[in-house]
Amino acid sequence: MEKIKMTTPLVEMDGDEMTRILWKMIKDELILPFIDLKTEYYDLGLEYRNETNDKVTIDSAEATKKYGVAVKCATITPNAARMDEYNLKEMWKSPNGTIRAILDGTVFRAPIQVKGIDPCVKNWEKPITLARHAYGDVYKNTEIKVPGAGKAELVFTGADGQEIRKVIHEFTGSGVIQGIHNTDKSITSFAKSCFNYALDTKQDLWFATKDTISKVYDHNFKDIFQDVYDSEFKEQFEAAGIEYFYTLIDDAVARVMKAKGGFIWACKNYDGDVMSDMVSSACGSLAMMTSVLVSPDGVYEYEAAHGTVQRHYYKHLAGEETSTNSVATIFAWTGALRKRGELDSIKELMEFADKLDKATLGTIESGNMTKDLALITSLKDVNVLNSEDFIKAVRNNLENSMK
Ligand code: NAP
Ligand code: MG
Repeated sequence: MEKIKMTTPLVEMDGDEMTRILWKMIKDELILPFIDLKTEYYDLGLEYRNETNDKVTIDSAEATKKYGVAVKCATITPNAARMDEYNLKEMWKSPNGTIRAILDGTVFRAPIQVKGIDPCVKNWEKPITLARHAYGDVYKNTEIKVPGAGKAELVFTGADGQEIRKVIHEFTGSGVIQGIHNTDKSITSFAKSCFNYALDTKQDLWFATKDTISKVYDHNFKDIFQDVYDSEFKEQFEAAGIEYFYTLIDDAVARVMKAKGGFIWACKNYDGDVMSDMVSSACGSLAMMTSVLVSPDGVYEYEAAHGTVQRHYYKHLAGEETSTNSVATIFAWTGALRKRGELDSIKELMEFADKLDKATLGTIESGNMTKDLALITSLKDVNVLNSEDFIKAVRNNLENSMK
């Protein structure tokens, strides 16, 4: 069989621990035998990040801007324990945070649904994609523990000297206050990423805040979304036969629980944090969640939503067998290959991505899966496979589908 040719390289960001092991297995078994793979490789493994003073992370993000599509392995975000473990020069920042800051993107997360791993919410027939605004609000707050009676005020001092002042509360005793912010620029980017991704995936877009209570702050989000929609996206949405609507967050939650799925739910930072955990937990497993960072100007970075699965890696290092789920990492590869194929008009590449997705899900549906899924499946008599054998079973399925 002739391998599929590529014209533009994918930006490949390698990572850490167990997912780095899976990364190589996936490439060797599922990608390289079928594709004449062109990648620009960046090693975001913690050792090399440390060696390059984290320059490699910045370079990989710049390359993503240049080529438009990246696929990323999970990476360690250093903490105190990692400082010793890897003898780090500095506590390097989260690579995802660095990449997100450079691409100015929004993260879209969706569960991978498969027969036998059923969502707790019975009517969710299709995945619900969560879009979380990743800037500001309570995540960049300033807080004060109020010691006792006194007046709390909100003060803005303009660069031109103009002052705006409002009383928050006249305290008669102790309490707490918090200041939060967001910027029109960031909200606009968020809105554009959401509208672009909805068009891209041909799904409706829902957006919700608490604008009845937060008449200025949340209302500003609502207005910006509506302005961006009316001025840049309305016609395209109508042509694509998809819908954008805004509703109150309470109403959105109620409707989500009754919906069939198959739409994008855009959330403010905190809502997105909480609701994405709710949707993924209801769908069974963190190991079955995809994640894609989309910039407002249409650059894509695909990855799995889970981390480096450290506990399994230590077992692997100790020579023990692991049963780590590679599905979300396989889907990161197929997402990136499909997008590359779409941008470069390489039909074979897009078809290959579809076949590999199907082969992966088919493997699970035929009762062959890793331990995390075996524990929650509704299928009877399942075969629990180790990390490597699962990928080999997918390979087998993929080859059969190509005969
Ligand atoms: P994790 O890697 O997501 O794993 C947490 C637990 O979830 C695992 O111990 C395992 O449970 C289960 N799990 C997650 N993915 C799985 C998979 N593919 N197959 C089977 N089980 C899976 O989170 P963590 O252990 O808290 O974090 C480890 C490292 O990942 C940290 O250094 C963190 O900084 C990093 N991280 C990176 C990213 C990213 O790059 N996007 C995201 C999150 C975390 P059992 O042990 O019970 O089997
Ligand atoms: Mg959370």
